[in-house]
Amino acid sequence: MAKQDYYEVLGVGKNASAAEIKKAYRKMAIKYHPDKNPDDKSAEEKFKVAAEAYEVLSNADKKARYDQFGHQAFEGAGGFGGGSMNMDDIFSQFGDIFGSAFGGGGGFGGFGGQRQRSVRGSNLRIRVKLSLEEIANGVEKKIKVKRKKQAKGVTYKTCGTCNGTGQVMRVTNTILGRMQTASPCNACGGSGQIIDHRPANADANGFVVEEETVSIKIPAGVEDGMQLKVSGKGNAAPGNGISGDLLVAISEETHPKLQREGDNLHYDLYVSLPDAILGSSVEIDTVTGKVRLKIEAGVQSGKILRLRGKGIPNINGYNKGDLLVHINVWTPKTLNKEQKSFFEKMRENEHFVPKPEQSDKSFFEKVKDMFS
Ligand SMILES: [Zn+2]
Repeated sequence: MAKQDYYEVLGVGKNASAAEIKKAYRKMAIKYHPDKNPDDKSAEEKFKVAAEAYEVLSNADKKARYDQFGHQAFEGAGGFGGGSMNMDDIFSQFGDIFGSAFGGGGGFGGFGGQRQRSVRGSNLRIRVKLSLEEIANGVEKKIKVKRKKQAKGVTYKTCGTCNGTGQVMRVTNTILGRMQTASPCNACGGSGQIIDHRPANADANGFVVEEETVSIKIPAGVEDGMQLKVSGKGNAAPGNGISGDLLVAISEETHPKLQREGDNLHYDLYVSLPDAILGSSVEIDTVTGKVRLKIEAGVQSGKILRLRGKGIPNINGYNKGDLLVHINVWTPKTLNKEQKSFFEKMRENEHFVPKPEQSDKSFFEKVKDMFS
């Protein structure tokens, strides 16, 4: 489904100023505010889409990328994917936009007073080592993670300091009239709940550390340094807050035979002098098992054999890289007397005199070929 243009979402032109964008978003946000449209899913959706558009267009850097690349600018790993904002993100990021509409003057109404702000647990980070074979084929890993969880038997009660809202309002008189500002409640850390009863094994927040096996699906084609997110598998939050995420950093093990270069793989194949002269058949390792390879009689050192599709699948598409097999003819370093005399005789033999043909491309041509 095509994503709606962010400018259209907010109903502004491409040349709208920052102030116009903010004004347009504010109008939308107030119109579709959940407090005004209780239980209206389509209003909530519009509210989210507007927040997403504003998230991008209110940020000079993101706006520039969006103007240049459109929605594509935020796709892929680590990008700002569509619909990824939840209501709490929106309120915590853009809460100030509602300031005078839902807060000031008219008492403690609006989202500040009624909406339960939920607190998020902290994220956990782990590193997963993957072999090249696992990267090529995709893999499901079961990882043991030590997570903070709410202890069995822990009970919470509404925080008396903020009456469960998670924030405290302060009203000050200024020359412009009464102003109110909200700040997170110190007593409950913003969750709106404090511990009523906790078992002896729980910490001050009512947590115990438990080991849990988390299953992580790793798609084929990941690269060293990439980060995957498993939602909700981080540390728990107090009360009815949301658990943090588990962030999985990918680390690639070096392969004894294969070297990765983007989606392509390289393999150094050593061929004996007799095999190079007489031709042969060898078995080589690939990421999907062993493959038999025919070595033509008279193969030259430096030749590159390209095995199409035997590389790594591209993480963003259906293409696969290639496996490039580099032929190295192995010259013996020691010979016995008989062998020595044989090669002595071959010195003057016309078959042993190098005669590069047109088809024996130079090193530079081969390298050029390799990257084409
Ligand atoms: Zn509180």
